[in-house]
Amino acid sequence: MLAPRGGKVSLAQDGYITLTDIKPREGKVHNPERTKSHIVPKEGNGDRTRLALLESGAWQFFSDAYTKELPDPKGTPQGIIVSTLSLEPFVARGDVQLADRLLEFTRGLEHLQTLLEYQPIYLVVPNVKSELIRSIKERVRGYAWIKLVAIPVQYPYDDSNLLARHIGLKKADGPIWSARTEGVLAVDRALTAGRPCLTRLISIGGPGAKDAVHLKAIAGYPIKKIVDDYAKGDVRVINGGILAGAEHKSLGLEAECRGLTLLPEQTEREFLSFVRPGYDRKSYSASFLSSLRGKFAERLTTSMRGEGRPCVACHYCADICPAGLSPFLLHKYLYADMIEQVEKARVDLCVECGLCSYVCPSKIELAGEFIKAKELIEQEKEEIRIEQARKAALEEAQKLAKQEKEAAK
Ligand code: SF4
Ligand code: SF4
Repeated sequence: MLAPRGGKVSLAQDGYITLTDIKPREGKVHNPERTKSHIVPKEGNGDRTRLALLESGAWQFFSDAYTKELPDPKGTPQGIIVSTLSLEPFVARGDVQLADRLLEFTRGLEHLQTLLEYQPIYLVVPNVKSELIRSIKERVRGYAWIKLVAIPVQYPYDDSNLLARHIGLKKADGPIWSARTEGVLAVDRALTAGRPCLTRLISIGGPGAKDAVHLKAIAGYPIKKIVDDYAKGDVRVINGGILAGAEHKSLGLEAECRGLTLLPEQTEREFLSFVRPGYDRKSYSASFLSSLRGKFAERLTTSMRGEGRPCVACHYCADICPAGLSPFLLHKYLYADMIEQVEKARVDLCVECGLCSYVCPSKIELAGEFIKAKELIEQEKEEIRIEQARKAALEEAQKLAKQEKEAAK
């Protein structure tokens, strides 16, 4: 684990790692690169750059646009998608991260360009008029290797998979790397200042938070401390936003966390909650009486209010799916254990945005089902690949043995 300073590392009784006897910081080293406004690309420094990104921890901010896996640092992508947007509710917004850091961001882009030959960097910005967007455009003007892509400020259009499809980049044409604002800033920190990526700017929000704040925190920072400082009452900690996040289960802050959503834990049982008319909650279907009310702060909690039901074939999930899937159909195939049909219905196109689960009046955990189905399909494919490789190796060995036998005759 990367540590910010030298010292004594120990496992505290309540389960998280602490650093004590911290060594004093050695004299501040002047780094002339730090104030440099531009990077002069050096011929053939790609390998060193990649190694520096790996060693500093900046590589963890990259993913393959389609598979969301960590890309091969030795590979050459057909392009890099850099998104300045973070549209999921309660996740640290890109403009917050960019504030006062435009110089670092532009230098980070220049560093990234040194990893490429002629492939472009697709810089994704919101299609709105703002001072920040104007400044970004101003800074990258004249960079022929940057292609600006403007998208609506609508979740989940900042998803790398949807962006790759929107730009017209095909999976079959080679890997596409993607990163967000924090990734480009990490690249700059690693390559300009030579500093490791120990901290992240995360958001703390949600109805269980005292106030919505942004926090600079180190990976492994105790979740209990965050809850003690920022939560009101008993909460469930969600790693990520309200739509695609999942319960944060580890004791320390996960290295790739972008934000925590705190949801009040509903501990009291509501009497006959499923037949309540719903004055205090919203529904995509406008079936609750709340649709007659104006705007109000919804009481979001972890409670399902007794609403788990079978699919009622309303097709709201299909209407909202940004990947053009029919989640209700996938759900029915999965219910019937028809995994081949699920694969044929292209569950691989699901971008795991969670919108179908959100709108479903029957509260079916559709997105969670599809994530598991994709993992299962990948696992089966991997097993088939291993089996085929094993068979091919056996056949090859048998062929060689036969040839040797014949030669010996
Ligand atoms: S199936 Fe659900 S989670 Fe997947 S892309 Fe469509 S709406 Fe999002
Ligand atoms: S939104 Fe839910 S209930 Fe409606 S069709 Fe989709 S899965 Fe079925």
